[in-house]
Amino acid sequence: STLLEATGVAVEYHRRGASALRAVDGVDLSLGRGEILGLVGESGCGKSTLGRALVGLQPAAAGAVRFDGRDVTPLGRRRREPGLRGLQMVFQDPYASLNPRRRIGDQVGDGYVLGGTGRPEAARRAGELLERVGLPADAARRYPHEFSGGQRQRIAIARTLATDPSCIVADEPISALDASAQASVANLLVALVRELDMGMVFISHDLSVVRQIADRTAVMYLGRVVEVGPTREIWSSPAHPYTRALISAVPRADGAGVLPVELPGDVPDPARPPGGCRFHPRCPLALPECSRQDPPLAVLRDGRSAACVLQSPGEPPRPLPEPREA
Ligand code: SF4
Ligand code: MG
Repeated sequence: STLLEATGVAVEYHRRGASALRAVDGVDLSLGRGEILGLVGESGCGKSTLGRALVGLQPAAAGAVRFDGRDVTPLGRRRREPGLRGLQMVFQDPYASLNPRRRIGDQVGDGYVLGGTGRPEAARRAGELLERVGLPADAARRYPHEFSGGQRQRIAIARTLATDPSCIVADEPISALDASAQASVANLLVALVRELDMGMVFISHDLSVVRQIADRTAVMYLGRVVEVGPTREIWSSPAHPYTRALISAVPRADGAGVLPVELPGDVPDPARPPGGCRFHPRCPLALPECSRQDPPLAVLRDGRSAACVLQSPGEPPRPLPEPREA
């Protein structure tokens, strides 16, 4: 069943003396219960902005977000409706969300108190949550600075769980942690999603982590989703040239080396996206019509979607040809 659904979501940043920047431009996505959706793309592609729009922290210029069947779209200047529980964001820097002068147990208990639970009961449940996220029994009495980065992210996750979420959007939740903490915090998030039957959008620039934990992966380029589908299929046979280029940059654990695809040039200015297919100036497979046609995200036969003229709606994904020599 669908837990979170975005339809045509667009987000604009208005800048003094300049045209509006459309950081997210017409994104459709859905997330089911118990599902992990990886959201990947180069920095500046709009993935964090989309994540914030999904939880209502960022107003949308167009489109709709439905959570558990309710329209929760933040429109205009209005941010999320107060009292919207169940849909929570986990951020990269857990320290920023913690008050250095309050004991961890009290801060984790806040979520329960806001939900109407009395302080003593909230404290008891906070202790249980801290244990559940793998912190020592005396953690509740201690202060944020007494913990490592990985432990602080566990505390932030416990605070989130105290609001009883059914869906989490995690924006680079492990990127600021050292390597060993990265794996254990990622594993914790996966375990919680499965145990509590939540849904999670996992935003990351680290494709190898997304490959390991995401059931489905959505690839963003310049404010658009260019490919989305089961992680395994996307990884073994990308249907969009950008996906192939992105994953080719990741060292492969099987030692098979990387695909001979490199992207020329930098990501274009999102304020002035190229006409036609936005990827055409960098696409090694671009055809003449690609500078004129803007291919929509088409549903392919294997349940995946891709926005590329090389793929046809309703057909199985066509294997991408080898890139031409430049
Ligand atoms: Fe490349 Fe054309 Fe496909 Fe865009 S539509 S990704 S330019 S082949
Ligand atoms: Mg970001």
